[in-house]
Parts: sequence; C-alpha cells; structure tokens
Amino acid sequence: MSAVDPRVWAADALRRIQADGARITPTPLRPLHMPALDGIDIYLKDESALPSGSMKYRLVRAMFCKAVAGGEVSENTPVFAATGGAVAAVGARFAKLLGLPFTAVVPTKTPTPLLDRIEREGGRWQVGERPPAAVQEEARTLAERHRGYVLDHFADAERAVADCGGPTIADEIFGQMRGQPHPVPEWIVTGAGTGATSATIGRHLRRHSHATRLAVVDPEHSAYFPAWTSECDDYTTGMPSRIPGIGRPRVEPGFTPDVIDLVIPVPDAASIAAMRWLHTVADVKAGPATGTHLWGVCHLVARMRAAGIQGSVITLVGDSAEPYRTTHLSAEWVHAQGLDPAPYEADLERFARTGKWPPGHDASRA
Ligand SMILES: *Cc1c(COP(=O)(O)O)cnc(C)c1O
Repeated sequence: MSAVDPRVWAADALRRIQADGARITPTPLRPLHMPALDGIDIYLKDESALPSGSMKYRLVRAMFCKAVAGGEVSENTPVFAATGGAVAAVGARFAKLLGLPFTAVVPTKTPTPLLDRIEREGGRWQVGERPPAAVQEEARTLAERHRGYVLDHFADAERAVADCGGPTIADEIFGQMRGQPHPVPEWIVTGAGTGATSATIGRHLRRHSHATRLAVVDPEHSAYFPAWTSECDDYTTGMPSRIPGIGRPRVEPGFTPDVIDLVIPVPDAASIAAMRWLHTVADVKAGPATGTHLWGVCHLVARMRAAGIQGSVITLVGDSAEPYRTTHLSAEWVHAQGLDPAPYEADLERFARTGKWPPGHDASRA
C-alpha cells in the first residue's frame, strides 16, 4: 500500500510536526496588573495562543513526535483518542497534518462545543457505548482492530515531552523573563493533569539551579493534594475533577512529586470565581483551570507580602474560555453543580484592590 519509503515518510512527518506552531512559540508572557501589589509582578504565560487554544498542544505534539520517530505511527496509521477534550482536538490536528484518519471515542454528555472543536480540526468522534471509564478500553479495541495508534496522554505525555527535544515551556519562560525587574521568578504555578507540565518545569528549575519554587494547584476530588501530603502515590479518590485539564482521581504515572515544592488545594467555586475575575476585570478569556492557577498565585503572593519578599510569580493560561460557554461560563451550569463563586469573587476583588488575604475563614466554604 505504502507509496513512500517509511523512512522518508517519517522524516517528512517529523519536519511537519516541528514546523507546525513554530510561528506562535514562544507563546506570549504578559503581566497581570493588580493595583495593590507593590514590587510583586504576576505574569501569565498564554498557552491559549497555541493552535487549538490549549496547552495540550505541546503534549500531543511531543507524543506524535515520539510515535513517528519510534515507528508506531507511519503512513496510513489511524489515530484514536479516548477523550472529547483538548487532546482529541490537537490529535485531530496533527493526524490531519500527516494525512492520517483520526477518531475520538468520547464520553456521553461531552459538551457540543468540544465536539465542534474536534470537527474543526478535521477529526471524527463517536460516543463511547460503555461507561466513561471504559472509553479508554473502547479506543484500544478499535485501535487493535484497525492497527492504529492510541494517544494516551496519561501514560505517555510526560516521557514524550522529556524525550522529544526542542525548547520546553520552561525554556521559553526563562528566556522571556530576561530583562524583567525580577527575571528569576519566586514561584511558578501550574495545575497537574498528566503531570507533564509540572515535571518539565520542576526538572528545568533543578537542572539550572534556579531558586524558583514550583507550586501545583489542585482542584476538589483530585488525588494529587492528598497523595502529596501523605506521600502515598497510589492514593485514589474515585471522583472526577470538575476543572477540565487538571486534577485526577488517581496519581498518574507522569506526576513527579520530587520536583514539586508545594501543592495547594483550591475549591472549585474559587476556581470559577477567579476565571470570572480574569474575564471581567483583566479581560483575559481563559478556561476554568486558569482560575485555579490564579487562586494559587494569590495565595503565594499574599505569603510573599507577609514575609516582605518582592519578586515575580508566573502562571499559565492553560486554555481559552471558548469551549466552556455551556458549562463553566454558564451561571445555570455552575448553580446546578451546587457551586457559589460569589463570595470568592468578592475575596479576589478585595485582594486586587487592597492586597488583603486570606479571605474570611468560613468553615462552610473550606
Ligand atoms: C492538561 C492541562 C493542564 C495540566 O497539564 P499536564 O501537563 O497534563 O499536567 C493545565 N491546564 C489545562 C487547561 C490543561 O488542559
């Protein structure tokens, strides 16, 4: 069937993968102004500028790179994913770039904007027939039947990013901070899904002996915070996170606690509040995980202020708001989840204006 020498195909595919998105990286690093903060500079690394609007672009690009270099993906290999999220959209994009068919097996109730995003990138989707946990199994079965490749970011992304070479998100951040008032940040803050991003940043900090510390923010129902505090790496919660992209019911293999300095639990209502604050006050149209990131940043900035420390704090805009208009951006959806962001919005507004933190210690909102 193959018209092209496999090595020639692979070399060409790797060139295309590397060239895609080269125009947009490094992604922008922008200051976030909070009037009350003197001598502490917050920066947002805007990963929503990446093709398909999500930082998953970096992970999926590395996975394609590794799969092509290792011969798992060659001419005509169909590609599958077991998610309706950003990995499916980016997977569809790279499959199309390489002329390969792409199918996402998605959970029932996957919101329409996510399905639209997969289609816009040239992919197909089908609803998994079995419960959400079995979507992965269904994608595997399909891949076996069609001699295909499954994009399994939880199993593979962290290794792929470490192996694939090229500038990482951490290289970009430190390059962009050169010449800023506090070029070596006090903290970098990110959430963890696969754990690849925090592992990449944490390793960079150690390899370059930077004084910067790495904080991971963790939403409700995620195993990472309890696993980190108890040093128990097989901790499971059995509950999915409500903040797309971050928080997992179990500790994924890419999570690397040894390079993380602090894990901060963040209530989901606070994540939504911070996302809304970014939209309405800062004009940053980010998704809910970025709200979680910002809440963690406020916590750390308040600690710095209390200790009289000046410096910079960096976090990521992990994805754009666009896929969440019927969910996290909808007041009805938020209410139906039993979440009340209003008190947290007031806390954040006060923090930005006066620098006062922590917010009130109301036990019912812990
Ligand atoms: C996946 C994701 C993260 C976390 O990245 P990992 O490298 O998978 O840990 C953060 N924010 C958003 C929006 C994500 O989709």
